[in-house]
Amino acid sequence: MSFSAALNTRRVLVTGSTSGIGLGIATMFAKSGCEIILSGMGKQDEIDALCSTLAGLNGDSTKVRHVPDADLSTALGCEALMHQAGPVDVLVNNAGMQHVSPLEDFSTEMWDRVIGLNLSSCFHTTRLALPHMRAQGWGRIINIASVHGTIASPYKAAYVAAKHGLVGLTKVTALETSDCPNITANAINPGWVLTPLVQHQVEARAEANSSSFDEEKDKLLSEKQPCTEFTTPEQLGDLAVFLASDSARNIRGASLHVDGGWTVQ
Ligand code: NAD
Repeated sequence: MSFSAALNTRRVLVTGSTSGIGLGIATMFAKSGCEIILSGMGKQDEIDALCSTLAGLNGDSTKVRHVPDADLSTALGCEALMHQAGPVDVLVNNAGMQHVSPLEDFSTEMWDRVIGLNLSSCFHTTRLALPHMRAQGWGRIINIASVHGTIASPYKAAYVAAKHGLVGLTKVTALETSDCPNITANAINPGWVLTPLVQHQVEARAEANSSSFDEEKDKLLSEKQPCTEFTTPEQLGDLAVFLASDSARNIRGASLHVDGGWTVQ
């Protein structure tokens, strides 16, 4: 039996799934036959096209929907999302943003926004998802943290603080659900993945250094990842599907690095 075979009755909410890693994760759950709730920003016609593509993968257009834009950097936005999503079996906390600036110049508004979206939103969605998971005795919480959940880089104060916090929140969630044989919480810690979030960082470097996008992309990888290849969103999606499987039910509170060797140096 494949890892995903028993998942086709599950309802999966992936935050920030209109692009990048979230979309890769939603895609792999759709391939496993799961009901998918997409959330995230984007143009309506593009989101409609994503929903059709995913429905083609899980084979049922009634099993894919998008929850209209909710700003997850606020508690109210998270509450609106969870209300519209209804009970979920698998919660993937993926929505995130980056802001790069030296500490002295870091805008306080950006600090609040990055912490709100990358950390506090995961607290809000988790606290709202857990009652249903406990009532049915089954649930999976998968937090998309980062290598920056365990190590730091300069100029990313809010992001690094939020991701370290998310790794801590994952551990607490795992401990508090340890009395439930079938509810688990884990984090996935990616290194570089070429998504719009990283695309913007490479473009900014190319502009600052008067060099080309490809040159900066190669430098970015070789500075940090011994294996100088980007991880793909679909590879992370496969890992998330495995974490949702019965085989993974004793993996609890872990932070699984998928980072081409970045953090073992
Ligand atoms: P992305 O920019 O491609 O996607 C971000 C998603 O979040 C989009 O769907 C966007 O609409 C949504 N979003 C942004 N702001 C939002 C808000 N205020 N409210 C609701 N939704 C919002 O980014 P990505 O690279 O796919 O990143 C996804 C996650 O993976 C993030 O948590 C990020 O920190 C983490 N991550 C990314 C990398 C990487 O190299 N790309 C590495 C490690 C961790």
